Amino acid sequence: MKINILPAEALEIIMGACKTTDPVYLPILDSLGSLLAEDVVSDSDLPGFDKSPLDGYAVRSRDTRSASDESPVLLQKIGFLPAGHLTDKVIGKGETIRLMTGSKIPEGADVVIAFEKVELIDNRVKITRPYPAGTNIIKKGEDLKSGTRVFNRGMVLNPAEIGILAALGRCFIKVYRRPRVAILSTGDELLELQEPLEEGKVRNSNSYFIFSLAKRLGAEPCLLGICGDQVEAIKNQLKPALAWADLVITTGGVSVGDYDLVKDAFSELGAEMLLWRVKMKPGSPMAVARYRDKLLIGLSGNPAAAYITFELFVRPVLLRMMGRKDYKPVEVKSILQDGFPKVSKNDRLIRAKTVYREGRFITFLPEKHSSGTISTLSATNSLVQIVGGKGPYEAGEEVVAYLLHL
Ligand code: AMP
Ligand code: MG
Repeated sequence: MKINILPAEALEIIMGACKTTDPVYLPILDSLGSLLAEDVVSDSDLPGFDKSPLDGYAVRSRDTRSASDESPVLLQKIGFLPAGHLTDKVIGKGETIRLMTGSKIPEGADVVIAFEKVELIDNRVKITRPYPAGTNIIKKGEDLKSGTRVFNRGMVLNPAEIGILAALGRCFIKVYRRPRVAILSTGDELLELQEPLEEGKVRNSNSYFIFSLAKRLGAEPCLLGICGDQVEAIKNQLKPALAWADLVITTGGVSVGDYDLVKDAFSELGAEMLLWRVKMKPGSPMAVARYRDKLLIGLSGNPAAAYITFELFVRPVLLRMMGRKDYKPVEVKSILQDGFPKVSKNDRLIRAKTVYREGRFITFLPEKHSSGTISTLSATNSLVQIVGGKGPYEAGEEVVAYLLHL
């Protein structure tokens, strides 16, 4: 087990120990946020037929050749073709068919003229200018040709991709299974939400926080509830979950206090300890173990520390499990709008709000940023790196900000 290591080394160890989940087929509506485990190739042309982009009249280009204001051409209307319907009429010399947006272009026609560009006189359409062949026609396969590779394996399925899969008629799609995440909060002081608050106790907020973070990333989280500071109790809660989970996340009980028993519980369950304690603030008391191909990550109980270490270490793990190979947090240079007085030995990551204004990023720091404070996490959209040994930071200094949720 590595003890008290730099964050970069910790991340490398953790990433080295996590495995991408197996591919599964899902209905496309259940695949939002998942990564493709197959290349998607179009098996048909999109659209599948020449179609009209507007309401108008299908005509033959050559019939319009001599049309002008002085000498208009009159075409005989021989039918009406709504979208989704077919006609066996063929447009011959001097004829036209009225179409709706999305109608299939009838045989014989090579132009569609918008309704508002013509006049209808006694079932005859008056045309006052020539139209070249192909005007207002969406060609078969113009959007996508059959046989085109539409998406590559590893791509994230966002709403647009799901719409495109639907257009291709794909009901099911092969994606990496959502990682299953079991979440346990440990600490004798914890109460569940429905319990009345007692002196000396705190409500378990971490579980809900972590559940939501994992869910938003596309994982399948499960709450194991709360558990006191006893090795046996922690083991009993975790053991059945290990049969199900790809990742176990605990909070609390990983620092060097007398009641910090999560590490012991991991070991006694048969997991191999990989690391304990990381040189950073907050969240230094993190413990990571491996049990077969599953990971167990013990985060600090301090809510903000748990949140920040989740962003730094758990997010990349979950994305890797979901099939993402190349995740790196989005990093920008930003100008501090507030000072930060504390100087510490190790790097510190503090919550912040970073916005792009007048050509540059600027970062605001909340007043309260101790790792036990939860209230100011709400407006957080970034983490700012306070370099170990450097400082105090003044307003106007340039810092590195990691943009979250991207
Ligand atoms: P620990 O990591 O066990 O030393 O806990 C650090 C701090 O976080 C203590 O003040 C705990 O009361 C608090 N804490 C631990 N677990 C939770 C939780 N699930 N929800 C909210 N606060 C917690
Ligand atoms: Mg504790």
